[in-house]
Amino acid sequence: MNELNLTTAWRDPEVARGLLARIERAVAGYRGEMTLMEVCGTHTMAIYQHGIRALLPEAIRLISGPGCPVCVTPVDYVDHAVALARRPDTIIATFGDMVRVPGSSSSLLHEQARGAQIRVVYSPLDAVALAARNPDKQVVFLGVGFETTTPTVAGAILAAEKQGLTNFSVLGSHKTMPAPMAALTNDPELQVDGYLCPAHVSTIIGVNAYRPLVEQCRVPCVVTGFEPLDMLRGIEMLARQVIEGRAEVENEYSRVVKPDGNPKARRILETVFEPCDATWRGIGIIPDSGLKIRAEYADYDAIRKLPVNVEKPVEHTGCQCGEILKGKVRPGDCPLFRTACTPENPVGACMVSSEGTCAAEYKYGC
Ligand code: SF4
Repeated sequence: MNELNLTTAWRDPEVARGLLARIERAVAGYRGEMTLMEVCGTHTMAIYQHGIRALLPEAIRLISGPGCPVCVTPVDYVDHAVALARRPDTIIATFGDMVRVPGSSSSLLHEQARGAQIRVVYSPLDAVALAARNPDKQVVFLGVGFETTTPTVAGAILAAEKQGLTNFSVLGSHKTMPAPMAALTNDPELQVDGYLCPAHVSTIIGVNAYRPLVEQCRVPCVVTGFEPLDMLRGIEMLARQVIEGRAEVENEYSRVVKPDGNPKARRILETVFEPCDATWRGIGIIPDSGLKIRAEYADYDAIRKLPVNVEKPVEHTGCQCGEILKGKVRPGDCPLFRTACTPENPVGACMVSSEGTCAAEYKYGC
């Protein structure tokens, strides 16, 4: 099957109708409402884009979790990037979304308007090339994201070392799964009955990475792909686990995700990074949920290498991003949604990022 057919096949309306009928039948006798959380920004976008929430029976409530890497990055990280951008000898290299995320009193976009050198890149290796072309500048790459992107950042650091570059570093705020899923499962204010596990992250960490979570928290998990039929199959598998009282990790996306993930990518990641506690916007500090650059690579760690004064972090009044990221409120519950906060003038990270819940609801509606 060629690529076009493969995509088309996973969007077949007839098969979708059949899956929806199966989901209806599965939950027909279920008393109450089950809450299923997707922990992946791309899943969030797919759910909104294909109107999946509206197609499901009332017994299933889908909520979005902390799966957007830009959204979960705390405000003090943005402030740190702003402080680095203000150094006259520094170029900030970043993926596009980070440029518009508001910090406490500024953003990289504002700093760029004031003369700071900000470059949008499409890969961490682009930032290494930028450093090679600008030997008189310090090039700092903003390293945010989950296990999907961290191996490429590790690869960029190794490439910079191989090229002997002394003007490349990373301001890291890397996060890992499934630690926040355990934190949310243990939150007494939030009853999550099951997780649609992220697909991209799972290609790296593998299905087996969720087994401790499932065993310790007794919460059902299904690794799910991004196409509409993937999503419906994943929801059906998850609903069946909830109904049958099972808590297992199942793999809907077996055509891509393997039990042990991608060991080579993990080896590169572990060469450069080590686990650390991390702060998640809206959730707080979660032990061992982040990755920091190992001491051996301190020369590529902007935090150690380029000390700056960072302002005291201030969250924007009224912004509900923290509660959105925990699945406790929907974008429409935020008083700023569609009024003070729009994609053109975002107040919070969830409206900035292309994977943010507020941006998805703004674009596609409920
Ligand atoms: S609408 Fe804007 S201010 Fe409100 S939670 Fe979403 S991003 Fe934050």
